[in-house]
Amino acid sequence: MIYLDYAAATPVSRKVLAAMEPYFTDEFFNPSAAYLPAKKVAAEYEVAKGVIAHAIGAKSNDLVITGGATEANNLAFTALGAEPYPCHEGAAPGILYLETEHDSVRAVAEKYGGEAIKVLPNGVIDLADLKAKITDETRLISVSLANNELGTIQPLAEIGALVKNVRIGRLKRGIKTPIYLHSDASQALNLLDINVARLGVDMLTLNAAKIYGPKGVGALYVSHDVKLTPISVGGGQEQGLRSGTENVPGVIGFATAIHETKEHLNGNRKKYANYKRILLSELKDYELVNKKHSLDNFVVLCYNGIDAERLIYLLEERGVYVATGAACAASKGKKSHVLAAIGLTDSQIAGSLRLTLGETNDEEQVHEAAKIINQVVQDEKRRTKNE
Ligand code: PLP
Repeated sequence: MIYLDYAAATPVSRKVLAAMEPYFTDEFFNPSAAYLPAKKVAAEYEVAKGVIAHAIGAKSNDLVITGGATEANNLAFTALGAEPYPCHEGAAPGILYLETEHDSVRAVAEKYGGEAIKVLPNGVIDLADLKAKITDETRLISVSLANNELGTIQPLAEIGALVKNVRIGRLKRGIKTPIYLHSDASQALNLLDINVARLGVDMLTLNAAKIYGPKGVGALYVSHDVKLTPISVGGGQEQGLRSGTENVPGVIGFATAIHETKEHLNGNRKKYANYKRILLSELKDYELVNKKHSLDNFVVLCYNGIDAERLIYLLEERGVYVATGAACAASKGKKSHVLAAIGLTDSQIAGSLRLTLGETNDEEQVHEAAKIINQVVQDEKRRTKNE
């Protein structure tokens, strides 16, 4: 098998699995229990949270552990209040989000009446559109650090600086409405060195499942001045923001995964950039969709006139696993809103393939994948010509 769909899922690394294992068995205690072994587990949980926080330049208290990135994104929007923002007649909705966001941001932003910010044809945020849409009513802006379909890296530090200026401007004019910047860094965590202060974000979503950690484990970084409302209430864990017995093995696994990721960041970047170069030179007859400003492990190709859904099926028969776009959109047979946003035609969208590289890939696999994709594309072209 040649797996080229790391943006959809990463395997849990052996080291991560080994670190998690004792917390399922011998160290199974509820961290809230009063006896010593439970207190030891509680302390280890806090240390693990500290490791995750430290990796993004934050402190353990700044993190709310969640059941994945979807939950973290939904929690971030509660900065607007428990209920969708009551926008009065003629008022701006107060929420801006990038039109290419993952569905877990888009859906909640739409629920709160958010307005989409445009991207340029290269997938990068249209800063002029953002500036034009910020009003005195704007309270939350959500822009992912790296897109999950294209790998496009957004200029978040620049957006952070812009938001800071808006804040200063409001203070000077005596306007008390707060403005927060949230970013979903699910995909970026793998290959970018993230620091919340440098980015100027107030909230940041993290996802263990994309960095060789367990699925269903994520975190939301929340700066001190942001007040969130819990989505569910109960035992009051995670500073009352996420009740429920702590997922100790999950958080230990997340901490191990993020530590490993940080350690291999530069080496991995170089490795994937090299694999990407090989793919782009050996593959034939494609248009490159994500030409610039993209994570090194994302290669998005367009074979105009060919049905990429069929390619996926034919490639799977030859042992190569790729995607057309976001796994959740593909499974619902929806057209990619991301590829449409960057101006691809329906036919280009239908012919687009996303290859995302990761840990189990090596150079030999990359050469082999290029050869198989070329063959399958040629066969498809011949077949459609004869139809
Ligand atoms: N945000 C981004 C950018 C993603 O790529 C994903 C996963 O595909 C998610 C959010 C959702 O993550 P999860 O399914 O772990 O909640």
